[in-house]
Amino acid sequence: MGHMDYSAQMRDLGLRVTRGRLAVLEVLDGHPHSSAEKVVAEVRCLLPQVSIQSVYNVLNDLTAQGMLRRFTPPHSAALYETRVNDNHHHAICTGCGRIEDVECAVGHAPCLVPSENHGMEIQIADVLYQGICEDCRKRAAA
Ligand SMILES: [Zn+2]
Ligand SMILES: [Zn+2]
Ligand SMILES: [Zn+2]
Repeated sequence: MGHMDYSAQMRDLGLRVTRGRLAVLEVLDGHPHSSAEKVVAEVRCLLPQVSIQSVYNVLNDLTAQGMLRRFTPPHSAALYETRVNDNHHHAICTGCGRIEDVECAVGHAPCLVPSENHGMEIQIADVLYQGICEDCRKRAAA
C-alpha cells in the first residue's frame, strides 16, 4: 500500500497526515513484526528530528485506529505490523524467534469455537503456532 492510500486512510479517520506517521507506516511495510525500539531506530534514520516519544505515540495512535496491528509473542516485546483486518495468525520459531504470517484457514474472527463460552460472546480466538524452523532443525542436526 502506497503513501497516497495511507494518507487517504488517515484523513478518513480524521487523523492529521504527518511525516512521522507516514514514516512509521513505511518502516513497518518494509519490516513487518518490528518492535517499537526497532521502529524508532528505522524512523530516525529517515527523519532524525523525530523524537522517540513521538514514535511511541504514533504506534499507539495508529494501533488504536486500526491502521496497525500489535501482537506480543511470549518472551518478546510487543511487535507491530501494517497487515490488519485479515485475522492472520503467526508462527514463531522457539529456537531463533523468527516470525512468519499464516493465513487464517477460516478467514474471520473468531476462527475457533470454544467448547465452553461461559456466557461470553466470543470475538477473537488468538492463535499462535510455535515450532522449530527449518534452519534451526538443520543447525540441530549438524
Ligand atoms: Zn529458528
Ligand atoms: Zn503478521
Ligand atoms: Zn484462524
